[in-house]
Amino acid sequence: MSERTPAEVVEAVAAAFERTFGSAPAGVWSAPGRVNLIGEHTDYNGGLCLPIALPQRTYAAVSPRDDGVVRMASAQQDGVVEVALDDISPEQPGDWGSYVAGVLWALRRDGLTVGGLDVLVDSTVPFGAGLSSSAALECAVAAAASDLFDLDLMGSAEGRARLAARCVEAENVIAGAPTGGMDQSASLLCEEAAALLLDCRSGETRHVPFDLDAAGYVLLVTDTKAEHALVDGQYAARRDACEQAARDLGIETLREIDPSGLDAALERLGSDEVRRRVRHVVTEIERVTRAVASLEAGDLDEVGRLFDASHASLRDDYEVSCEELDVATATARSHGALGARMTGGGFGGSCIAIVRASDADAVTAAIATAFEDEGFTAPVSFTVTASGPAHRDV
Ligand code: ADP
Ligand code: MG
Repeated sequence: MSERTPAEVVEAVAAAFERTFGSAPAGVWSAPGRVNLIGEHTDYNGGLCLPIALPQRTYAAVSPRDDGVVRMASAQQDGVVEVALDDISPEQPGDWGSYVAGVLWALRRDGLTVGGLDVLVDSTVPFGAGLSSSAALECAVAAAASDLFDLDLMGSAEGRARLAARCVEAENVIAGAPTGGMDQSASLLCEEAAALLLDCRSGETRHVPFDLDAAGYVLLVTDTKAEHALVDGQYAARRDACEQAARDLGIETLREIDPSGLDAALERLGSDEVRRRVRHVVTEIERVTRAVASLEAGDLDEVGRLFDASHASLRDDYEVSCEELDVATATARSHGALGARMTGGGFGGSCIAIVRASDADAVTAAIATAFEDEGFTAPVSFTVTASGPAHRDV
């Protein structure tokens, strides 16, 4: 599905809208998935992360309705889901419709006036691959709502940040997924050829040049296709552990621990497991700062080393990797990658590697072979460039 061009998907989603709802949509909006370059499991700790927007996007053909009803259909799902604006809750409409309806719920709770919508969705973001199809969906809907209800939030970074915050609430409260704020900020605020340095404590953002092509490298993404049970529970458990550790240390978030004070902080924590969780978060935030400096200095070798260190920390200290991610990253490294790491929440999903453009096919083949040897499901690898944020297509 990722082979379709944006123009093809825009046309297809508008045609599907017309077939489903009986008239042409008022417009089509889209928003990208993301990969996080580095800074994993830091967003909910008030830390730093560094995502790029993907060329893969979720498209929403949308028309306003004047009866306060939301009707939703998706090329990736069966049937039409319907819910009244007043009935949107953690129980209703449930399932994938919660990501769409939740955005309208959050905008209303923010005091903004929105009406009902007909929404038809299509996407080139693989879902469940750790590439944030959920945020792409929310942000495409948020962009449409902003334009159709004259909320005027798409034209400024402040407005887009406000939309991102509403999308986070939709995902946390209505869809029931306790994610941090990185994905939605990436989808609404990233720029082409740049990564977004996001400070999750202050909300400040900065664009950091990220153009591997110019240096003869590419970012290779491998969707491991690994699906492990308990992902959501493990995510919540990590988050809880961090929040509890912060309370035990008498601080707001783990961001407040300076790397120079890490050992002293660790000594005050009760269990080895909690110490390792905290060590990951504090060292990972530091790695983001160093990665930004290395990118700005054009030192890709160092960025690669930081990728490797991030993966080791996520595997050994935070314990959110899995065999597929470990095999994919190790294989990329042994076939010449400057560095490789899991990206996203973990327990499956995708890994990223910085590889020489001329090596991309060989690394892809090597990972496929390694997966076959291990008896894993066949992975899917593709290269990505840092792409643009949510916008109106037509
Ligand atoms: P990801 O890492 O892709 O964000 P999530 O589990 O957070 O994984 O979100 C995936 C969920 O988002 C899907 O199970 C579905 O409910 C919803 N979703 C994402 N994209 C679409 C789409 N194109 N159409 C319908 N639902 C979608
Ligand atoms: Mg998601």
